[in-house]
Amino acid sequence: MRCDNGAGWRADALAALGREQFDLLVVGGGINGAGIARDAVLRGLKVAVVEQGDFASGTSSRSSKLIHGGLRYLEQGNVKLVWESARERERLRRLAPHLVRPMRFVYPLYRGSKLRPWMLNAGLWGYDLLAGIRSVKRHRMLRPAAVQKVEPALRMEGLRGAGEYWDCWTNDARLVVETMLSAAQAGAVIVSRVRAVGFIKEGGRIAGARLVDGVGGAEITCRARAVVNAAGPWAHKVSELDGPGGVRLRLTKGVHVIVPRSRVGNDAALVLHARRDRRVMFVIPWGTHALIGTTDTDHPGGPDVPPRVEADDVAYLLETVNYYCPAAALRPSDVVGGYAGLRPLIAPPESEALSPSAVSREEEIHTAASGLISMAGGKLTTFRLVSEQIVDRVVAALRAAGDSRTFGPCRTVDTPLPGGRVDPAILADRAIAQNGHRMSGPVIAHLAARYGERLADVLSHVQQDSSLAAPVVPTEPDARAEVAHAVEHEFAMTLEDVLIRRTQLGLVDASGSAMAAPEVARVMATRLGWDEATAAREAAAYAAAVASDRERWG
Ligand SMILES: Cc1cc2nc3c(=O)[nH]c(=O)nc-3n(C[C@H](O)[C@H](O)[C@H](O)COP(=O)(O)OP(=O)(O)OC[C@H]3O[C@@H](n4cnc5c(N)ncnc54)[C@H](O)[C@@H]3O)c2cc1C
Repeated sequence: MRCDNGAGWRADALAALGREQFDLLVVGGGINGAGIARDAVLRGLKVAVVEQGDFASGTSSRSSKLIHGGLRYLEQGNVKLVWESARERERLRRLAPHLVRPMRFVYPLYRGSKLRPWMLNAGLWGYDLLAGIRSVKRHRMLRPAAVQKVEPALRMEGLRGAGEYWDCWTNDARLVVETMLSAAQAGAVIVSRVRAVGFIKEGGRIAGARLVDGVGGAEITCRARAVVNAAGPWAHKVSELDGPGGVRLRLTKGVHVIVPRSRVGNDAALVLHARRDRRVMFVIPWGTHALIGTTDTDHPGGPDVPPRVEADDVAYLLETVNYYCPAAALRPSDVVGGYAGLRPLIAPPESEALSPSAVSREEEIHTAASGLISMAGGKLTTFRLVSEQIVDRVVAALRAAGDSRTFGPCRTVDTPLPGGRVDPAILADRAIAQNGHRMSGPVIAHLAARYGERLADVLSHVQQDSSLAAPVVPTEPDARAEVAHAVEHEFAMTLEDVLIRRTQLGLVDASGSAMAAPEVARVMATRLGWDEATAAREAAAYAAAVASDRERWG
């Protein structure tokens, strides 16, 4: 599929959806929908993906962004999940070094904690062993004096020591977009803002879906031999379009807030126990910012009620950071951005009255009598593996239905993502040596770290229009060229797409992004055919949404 022109790719994709017969239609454009589409198209299937909003606009842009073995799961005795996750972590590091990067964690232990240093040491040994030779780096235990040296901002009173270990961090929304891009480059038809509203059946078997274009309003009948429901928090709703039964979910809300890191003073990611309920939470370094999360509370409203950051969520997170990093003294007004997401967890039986945090994070793959394959639960970390398992099922279903074509084996274990073949540091050095981009070294390094080998595509916008070298927000490295690139090459259609998911300016500096909205709309307008009034309306709507979010947590 062509994906080199803001408006053109969409028109092509819509036409193809109604015209072609697909082997596989994927409903949902989060990390799992993207992973499934990529795996299937790389094996030779003819694939389409529809997403009702922007790609990654569901849970997949609202995670803690950890690609991790999951130390917590080891505490729960779930060795298989940790082993699989650690293996996937190492694979993703290889396939997308620009998007999946090692991060150092410090887990301090205090007097009164049930978890003793020897227990943490044993757990971290287990963690290292499960990651095996693939491990990022081995853990070490630190005595209080050593903790003070490496993380001086941490509370010293009552400190018994700390474990230092390594995991990985990613940019979740960009991982989705690059996975989608890879699928599109391999021939998948992918389109955002198209909703599946029903299924078509032949002899009781799924034969495609009825779709509605959220932009033009057109109704499209899309024919497909197999359909996968990868609708995350909406998986139950989509499975109900097929009939009763199907996947049952328990949605829980997780909130993150972002504050200036200079206030917290952490160097590594900190693993802390929340003051109210002892749940594990993280304070993750994110450039000059710190990402603090997460909460875990039931979300009774269902997936169509957008999860929001509320004042009490902010209080829950800040009180813990202020306790363990006393000099931080953070107040709600120090929060520069935040977001809330829904965990699409598999509902445990009603007889099990579990707290939100006790509900399993494992995925479930379910094939209905109609042939609809639904997935729910799971983690960002294991999306490649789960996608492989789902496409195995799709291929088996096609065979069982008499399809005699031979499809290739799964290729996602060793096929890098589009930006992922070369170390970003090498790419940055080369681009800086060539110079002539009117951009500083740190900005080029930022672009290389974000786009990997696609850096040259972003820089080419500056060669055509030097005004695009300027930053979007004065204090952040994100360049205006990224706005142009997001529209022309990454399916962005609104300011929110650009400012929250292609860049994360709306998260790390929500007010700054609102001030930059008119200029961002101007760069987008020329590419999307917006007139001045439309651009002004889009910018005002974005700024109003930022202001209303801010009001809620004060
Ligand atoms: C607070 C929080 C923190 C987390 N932290 C981590 C972490 O650090 N590491 C980790 O590995 N995992 C983490 N997770 C889990 C991880 O984020 C999710 O498992 C993953 O993102 C789910 O992806 P998905 O594709 O299944 O769902 P989604 O990303 O929600 O995608 C589903 C998509 O389907 C679309 N859709 C729904 N209905 C329709 C329809 N009818 N037609 C078309 N499209 C439709 C939706 O718009 C949505 O975009 C976290 C989750 C949360 C909530």
